[in-house]
This record gives sequence, structure tokens and C-alpha cells, in this order.
Amino acid sequence: MLVFRQLFDAQSSTYTYLLGDSATGQAVMIDPVFEQVRRDAALVAELGLKLLWTLETHVHADHVTGAWLLKRKLGSRIALARESGAEGADRYLVADDTIAFGDRRLQVRATPGHTNGCLTYVLDDRSMAFTGDCLLIRGSGRVDFQEGDPKAMYRSVHDQIFNLPDSCLLYPAHDYRGLTVTSVAEERRFNPRLGGEIAVGDFTGYMSNLRLAHPKKMDVAVPANLKCGRPEREQEGGDPLWAPLTYTFAGIWEIQPHALEEHAAEVQILDVREPDEFNGPLGHIRGATLIPLGGLAKRVAELARDKPIVAVCRAGGRSAQATVILQQEGFANVANLTGGMLRWRAEGHPVEGGSA
Ligand code: FE
Repeated sequence: MLVFRQLFDAQSSTYTYLLGDSATGQAVMIDPVFEQVRRDAALVAELGLKLLWTLETHVHADHVTGAWLLKRKLGSRIALARESGAEGADRYLVADDTIAFGDRRLQVRATPGHTNGCLTYVLDDRSMAFTGDCLLIRGSGRVDFQEGDPKAMYRSVHDQIFNLPDSCLLYPAHDYRGLTVTSVAEERRFNPRLGGEIAVGDFTGYMSNLRLAHPKKMDVAVPANLKCGRPEREQEGGDPLWAPLTYTFAGIWEIQPHALEEHAAEVQILDVREPDEFNGPLGHIRGATLIPLGGLAKRVAELARDKPIVAVCRAGGRSAQATVILQQEGFANVANLTGGMLRWRAEGHPVEGGSA
């Protein structure tokens, strides 16, 4: 079965796509965003996938790719167009190359126009294609910087995308209105720039009058992406060092019970249950401070700011929310005890009070 996830970066309105083969667990990711690597790596882990490749549709001007950071975190390899001129990739793609993950494959199509190195990735059964900034939903990528060329884009869309089956779903690199997917048939009919009877001359006229501002991050993003997202200082994107933590797709830092027991002397343990639970049958962890979740925001002054905080509750749900509240209150080093007191007890860690 195909595993498919569409992920969104709100800052740049970028879509990142995860495709995996459930039988083998092998996966690829198209257009990861640097700032979202933690989230995306967590999802890959939670779905039990092994990320083989990150694939770029092109050298982006509006965000820095997560390719390099994912390679460092997960060991994935980096692929993008040979025409991109980028350095640091593991594979340089040209038209008709294929990228395999498990039993599935993506076919590479060259779709220049937005940049020289724009690629569209087509799934083996032609049910989906990832069009980057070539064809957008009822729109197209811009052609007024990098190596933009409206005639090339027109040809790319008509010769490489509109010749896919009508039912083929098209997933763009961006959408600024929150639209998520379209199809070949729809865009052929309704794309106001490229569909219907619109000829190449109509398109070039349209595109030379868009009058858009350049992307805010362009001066940073393009040079960084020409190095596949490798930062000047490599420690950027590093994880907290005060204890071995994992980051979840839900956006929470978590600590395992055994790690908390090991680091108990260096952290504040914050129990956010109600007093009757704290003193009830599950007991509590020695030295824990009791502040029920409902009163936490008003009582943060009772917590030290120079010591990491681990939040604890019965099963790990309320304490996850406690870490969110603490971060909003400016606490930098916070984590949630995975599975709460239930897991803590099940794994045999010491409990104060409670019953056996
Ligand atoms: Fe772009």
C-alpha cells in the first residue's frame, strides 16, 4: 500500500510530500522545509518508515530546503535536477530517471520555466504527479526571476503535465489559498493562465504583467538551496542536550521513563494532576511539585527558570498540554513524560505513596 502525506509549512505556504511503500517501509520526501525537519522526521519515525531520498522539485527562492538536515538526522540521500546547478547532492536527476522506494517508483519529468532545473515527479501508475512551481492549482509558478522563461513553462505544462491521464491528481509545491490538490482534467479546463484555448502568446502576456514582489527570503534561500540546505553553522537545527528527548509529530518533546529516572536530580518534576490523584493509588514521583494543569499558567512563578522541567500526569495527555503552556510562558527546556504515571509504574520505576 502507498503511504501518502501532504504536509504544510505556513511560513512559506510550501507543501512537503511524504510517499512510502508500506510493505518495505521505504519512503521518499519531496520538497522538505528546513524549519519543519523535526516535525517531518518525527512523522517518518512514527509511521515506521525509512527515508531513502529527499527530492527537490527545484531550487526554491522562498524557503530553505530540509534536505541536508534530513540527511544528517535520518541518513536520507539528496536528489535534485542536474540543471539546478546545486552542489552537495547525492544524485543529479535528468528526464526519465526513476527513483524507487520499495515496489513503487517516481518518474522524473523535466518541466523548466520557473527555473531551468524544475522537475515534476510522476508516480508509476500515473495517479499522482508533483508539479513543484511549474503548474499550481489554477495558477502557475512565476517566471520573473532565477531562470524564469514563460515559453518554456508553457511547453512544460502542455507537453509534460497535460499529457498525463485526466484523472491524474496534481500536487503543487505551494498554495496560498489553502487548496491542496487538483487534477489534469480540471487544470486543462479551468486554469486561467494555461488551460482552455490559451496559447503561448496569451500566457507570456499574462506572465509579464503579474507585478509581484520578490519573495522575502530569496536572498537567503537561493544560496542555501544551491548547497542543498547546508547551513553556514552546522549546529543549527540541533536538539536539546539536557536529556535524551524525542520530538513527536504532535510537536511535543518527550522523555522516556528510564531517561527521567536517570536525570531526575537535574530536572524539576512537575505533576499536573489533581491533588486526589497525586495522593491516590498511582502515587507520584519523589520530589515532584504538584500544580494542577488548570492553575498552571497562574502559578509558573513557583517553578525555577534555570532547571529543565518534566511534566507528568496520569497518561501523558494533560502533561503534554502543560509543556505547551510552559513554552508559552517562556520556559525553554521542557519535556513531557511519555505515558505518564501509568507507564512509569508499568516499567517499575520508584513511586512515592500509592498502592501496589
Ligand atoms: Fe519556487
